[in-house]
Amino acid sequence: MDCIFCKIVDGSIPSDIVYQDDHVLAFRDLNPHAPHHILIIPRTHVATLNDFTESDAPLIGHLSLAAAKIAKQLQVDEQGYRIVTNCNAGAGQTVFHVHMHFLAGRSLSWPPG
Ligand code: 5GP
Ligand code: ZN
Repeated sequence: MDCIFCKIVDGSIPSDIVYQDDHVLAFRDLNPHAPHHILIIPRTHVATLNDFTESDAPLIGHLSLAAAKIAKQLQVDEQGYRIVTNCNAGAGQTVFHVHMHFLAGRSLSWPPG
């Protein structure tokens, strides 16, 4: 399968990794929209949020736990951070390996664009 993020998981495409464990990998976005713009992904290939099943519930939990750990690691847990998952092209998804965008380090307006 020709998936950029699977290649980042297997190391054949280099990335700036900020956190990893048995379930997830987190690395800096190539085109950052905030001082801290990190992508948190499952090590296993799942295309979109729609493709998770009940058995993925622990994995989904690990993605959120990783976000909170990264926030603490970067010392933005108190000031605040945003987690965004774009699901399908209409929401802006361009890489079809599910991921959470972690954004922090600047003021984040609401609602998002
Ligand atoms: P999406 O648009 O699917 O929600 O987010 C995909 C993100 O992946 C984009 O923000 C884009 O900048 C990032 N991206 C695409 N290719 C690469 C890559 O090879 N390395 C890294 N670090 N980020 C990438
Ligand atoms: Zn993949």
